[in-house]
Amino acid sequence: MHTVEETLATILQAVRVGQVETVALLESLGRVLAEDVQADIHMPPFDNSAVDGYAVRATDTEGATLATPVRLPTRGDSNAGGANPPALEPRTAVRIMTGAMVPPGADAVVMIEDTRQEAGETVAILEAARPEQHVRRIGEDVTQGTVVLRAGTLIRAAEIAMLATMGRAVVPTIRPPRVAILSTGDEVVEIVAGETPPPGKIRNSNRYALAAIVRETGAVVHSLTHLPDDFEATQAALRALTDAAHPNGPPDAIVTAGGVSMGDRDFVRPALEALGTLALWKVAMKPGKPLAFGRIGDTLFFGLPGNPVSALVTFELFARPALWRMAGRPADQLARRQVAALATTDIPHAPGRREYVRAFTTQNGFAFETRPTGAQGSGILRSLTLANSLLVLPEESVGVRAGETVTVLLLD
Ligand code: AMP
Ligand code: MG
Repeated sequence: MHTVEETLATILQAVRVGQVETVALLESLGRVLAEDVQADIHMPPFDNSAVDGYAVRATDTEGATLATPVRLPTRGDSNAGGANPPALEPRTAVRIMTGAMVPPGADAVVMIEDTRQEAGETVAILEAARPEQHVRRIGEDVTQGTVVLRAGTLIRAAEIAMLATMGRAVVPTIRPPRVAILSTGDEVVEIVAGETPPPGKIRNSNRYALAAIVRETGAVVHSLTHLPDDFEATQAALRALTDAAHPNGPPDAIVTAGGVSMGDRDFVRPALEALGTLALWKVAMKPGKPLAFGRIGDTLFFGLPGNPVSALVTFELFARPALWRMAGRPADQLARRQVAALATTDIPHAPGRREYVRAFTTQNGFAFETRPTGAQGSGILRSLTLANSLLVLPEESVGVRAGETVTVLLLD
């Protein structure tokens, strides 16, 4: 059996970062930037006002207070979007809007709240201005030519704003991996609205769960297949999937669920060995011991256990970081946030395999508190739906007492 660390290291060594794909700006959301982005303009592109008010020379407002206002005649307006604001004559003021050009000759803006409009085109300034006050200088955010976003950056709303600011209607990104999903098992039937499974059968939850977690990861579902417990059929499906002639092209990764244990009717691992290579099998963890990893040609192969909880937990620990790396995320940004938390209940554990306990973790001031969300059998889906984290019990642990500190992986 392999440790979790060995397994992840083997998997990440096998990963190759995807090709560059240039997409429309909004389609780049959630992808990773493939190239550095330089500013094509200064930002702001011109000196402009941060507030609505009056553009002035600061010296002209010296001594102004509520009790001793300075009165200045107003000469014209500078409106947002206008290209030719009136020049400011000494001892006058120009009305100005937020984002409008600062008139030549002005060095400060007095906000409207610190003024009083008076009869005869006059404004009373109620507070002396400092030079530069409320002026946003050209280039104070970004200077033309500087790198504003580095290759490898995950594109979120803030990055979209910067890309739009720099006129990037299209963006070079790393193409996210395409993942083929295969559920397995003669006991598994497809869900049909209004129908309950016949005796001996269960509904196919892994098909949907894995498609969902692939999408949550930012990857693309290549195809969805269900396999019977049959060696020939399993081999044929995997061969068709990895054939260059596949209508969608071969996937970057295959994720199967089930059929990787020791049972007489577990055919996924033998089929992988027949068509490609098995790099490792069995990880010293709970849930999820019978994980298999390998490749068929250029396609990475994740053989996850069939229990719905084991499938999702092993996906989270091994497939998600691999898919994130393939999508261009930097190697040091693949881990979930790991925090120390106070266990609020006793948690049993028999020494042996490392256990990932479904847990609910909350923050209480600066401290985290955590508790298991219920029964932990690998068939118990309900405790996974109630969990927002995985509490890690080390291999040698003999259990945890309430009040002890444990390590938790935060999943949200
Ligand atoms: P296996 O790893 O194939 O031995 O499956 C382990 C357990 O997970 C069995 O109880 C299966 O019935 C269950 N299981 C396997 N595949 C699915 C699936 N697609 N949906 C729901 N449960 C499954
Ligand atoms: Mg099975």
